[in-house]
Amino acid sequence: MSDTILRYVPEDPFWKPTTADAAKAVSLLKSIAPDAETVDAIFEENVVFYHPGEYWSGIKCNACGADAEPWWDGPMNAAFAVKFENLEFTTPCCGAHTSLNDLHYIVPSAFGRFNLEARNPNMGDPTEDHDRDIARCLGAPVRKIWVRL
Ligand SMILES: [Zn+2]
Repeated sequence: MSDTILRYVPEDPFWKPTTADAAKAVSLLKSIAPDAETVDAIFEENVVFYHPGEYWSGIKCNACGADAEPWWDGPMNAAFAVKFENLEFTTPCCGAHTSLNDLHYIVPSAFGRFNLEARNPNMGDPTEDHDRDIARCLGAPVRKIWVRL
């Protein structure tokens, strides 16, 4: 059995909504995804990497477009060692100063301390209006991630 998760993560990896706004966003996501098994707002103590699971399709440098997969482990391990409190690094391909969160994940992925998730939503992609409503409800821009486990 595989699970599909629709997940919203704030664009800023260190940002979290208030618990009141998170609760409102849960209600809103329930109305957008009424057939979901569960809808939850999850706060993490430290920044985590939200991976798209089986949908993973690789990473490219956001500055020059080079394939980042051959060297991505290096900055990932360095960032993991400081609990992802610093995501910045210099790319080996072109020397650009960037953040792990800003690399071009071919299927959206994100770092964050908060996520709003609908498990097995049994629906297609929410509309841009829905995405905007979620962002407005939480109070910050969000990244939408589809995960297949
Ligand atoms: Zn590059």
